[in-house]
Amino acid sequence: MIRNRNAKINIHKLYDLYIASERNRLTKRFDTYIKAVIVFPNYYSVAMSNLGFLRAYELINQSGFMSCDRAFLQDDDSKGIISIETRQRIANYDFIFFSLSYENDFNNILSILNAEKIPFLSKDRNKSYPLIMAGGVIAFLNPEPVAPIFDLMFVGEAEAIFPDFFKIIENKKKYEILESASKLEGIYVPSGYNFIFDKKKPVTLNKIECLPGFPKKIRRKYADNGASFSSSPITTEFSELSNINMIEIERGCKRGCRFCSAGFIYLPLRESKHADVLNAIGSLSAEDKAGFVGLGTMDSKNINEIMRFSLNSKKPFSLSSIRFDCLDENNLDLIKETGIKTVTLGIETGSSRLKKMINKDIDNDEIITALKNIIKKGIINIKLYFMFGLPGEGKEDLDETINLIKTMREEFVRSSKINKRIGLITASFSPFVPKAWTPLQWESFEDLTVLRKKAGYLNENLKRLPNLNININPLNAAFTEAFFARGSRISNEILIYSFINKISLKNAITSKEYNIKDFIRKFDQDELLPWDIIEQGVTKKYLLSEYLTGINLKTTPQCFKGCKRCGVCL
Ligand code: SF4
Repeated sequence: MIRNRNAKINIHKLYDLYIASERNRLTKRFDTYIKAVIVFPNYYSVAMSNLGFLRAYELINQSGFMSCDRAFLQDDDSKGIISIETRQRIANYDFIFFSLSYENDFNNILSILNAEKIPFLSKDRNKSYPLIMAGGVIAFLNPEPVAPIFDLMFVGEAEAIFPDFFKIIENKKKYEILESASKLEGIYVPSGYNFIFDKKKPVTLNKIECLPGFPKKIRRKYADNGASFSSSPITTEFSELSNINMIEIERGCKRGCRFCSAGFIYLPLRESKHADVLNAIGSLSAEDKAGFVGLGTMDSKNINEIMRFSLNSKKPFSLSSIRFDCLDENNLDLIKETGIKTVTLGIETGSSRLKKMINKDIDNDEIITALKNIIKKGIINIKLYFMFGLPGEGKEDLDETINLIKTMREEFVRSSKINKRIGLITASFSPFVPKAWTPLQWESFEDLTVLRKKAGYLNENLKRLPNLNININPLNAAFTEAFFARGSRISNEILIYSFINKISLKNAITSKEYNIKDFIRKFDQDELLPWDIIEQGVTKKYLLSEYLTGINLKTTPQCFKGCKRCGVCL
């Protein structure tokens, strides 16, 4: 992937190369009186593989009165951050929309603002600065660690929030917008709230005080079932998903895995309009492949028909991660026919106890049978995702995971003989990170020393086996994610302090005289949580009951017709 890491590649030349590579279906007006820029706080290649970012870019341009450019993190930002389309400095736009997907990008937000000499905090900016807003999954999961940076945040899905918000910004002056917009569902103006922390337990929140005129809670707004969802308006070979046009098959997930924030904050499950999906496939350019995305693509009732249509239209496709229990003869034939050589599956753990705790209770025998069926179809490589550091995890749980992988590897080698070629199993392990709006949000992030030992144990037991590749994701990155995932406005102070002083987050925490353990601890069940400012639809009471059900090693069935248990379906 070409990035502007190499000092010899000038940012203008690099952006010329990227633009020349883009297949862009967007018709953009350049005669509008409002100029906006959408910023992804990571490199072009990462941004262009993010459907949420591309969708927001498309919707802003479809407003009719705004033209929106794109900007990204740059290695050389000595001359500021420029948009890829018009090469203007982002500080010169009327509106800056940030698209936020990952906690580990928070530092990049500061780099970008710093390069443009824009004060980090909303309260320190006067009317001469652009209005700075943020949307994306972070804005409706837990916005607090970055909330003081933004003038306004979008809590929910762009398709649902933008129409009413655009009516306001079309007719108001830049800084009159906040007051009117704060009354809209799905709009969070962080300056309208004070977060008061306990003096004796400094990381514990005591009260969320809302200033006069601001709503007590910010209700998540989401698109109706049957709304038009998205497909990539632009494709490029320089995206991490090179030349793949992402087509959203569904939004939400009915499974209720207790560690998965996306599984709860995108509820209810909504399928894309079938005709839209087929149209998106039909209009792909010759260079592009279809990439079907969704939290549970194989759960979609239309998935086999969609895959068949794609094949008949001579458009190869790829799929995001698949559940073992969704694979059958029919869909495996279609997957094979498109030429997929690697199937990616999320298993999470081999421990029968922990599988129940996380509500992903797929029997190990069922996993082995599915594995045999995959290999029988001639798909030669398997990628597996696991977690470690799950609540209550002991050596016996890790041993069950190790044994499962060993058995899978043996079966993989045995079954591969019919293909006359043995491929590779790649098992990736990530530390469990407790996330807001999940039943496991009250649990702790495991101590790094313990995680290090567990990573060593997994590696030691699995590393020398043929046809098996082990990949343990960096623990420090997981710590950063955990620190922010349940963070608060105190985390924002620490983020800024670490950036200004060029020190690690851990050093910033201790320099500010906080205790690292307080940020990754187990939260009390009756504690006020920073993300309680949001009304997600899923109630805290439901999450707590799911947490206790999980602790008691009991599973909960998936969403069903007539169910009203979590608070989303009324
Ligand atoms: S109320 Fe029931 S069906 Fe609706 S989203 Fe919640 S769990 Fe699923």
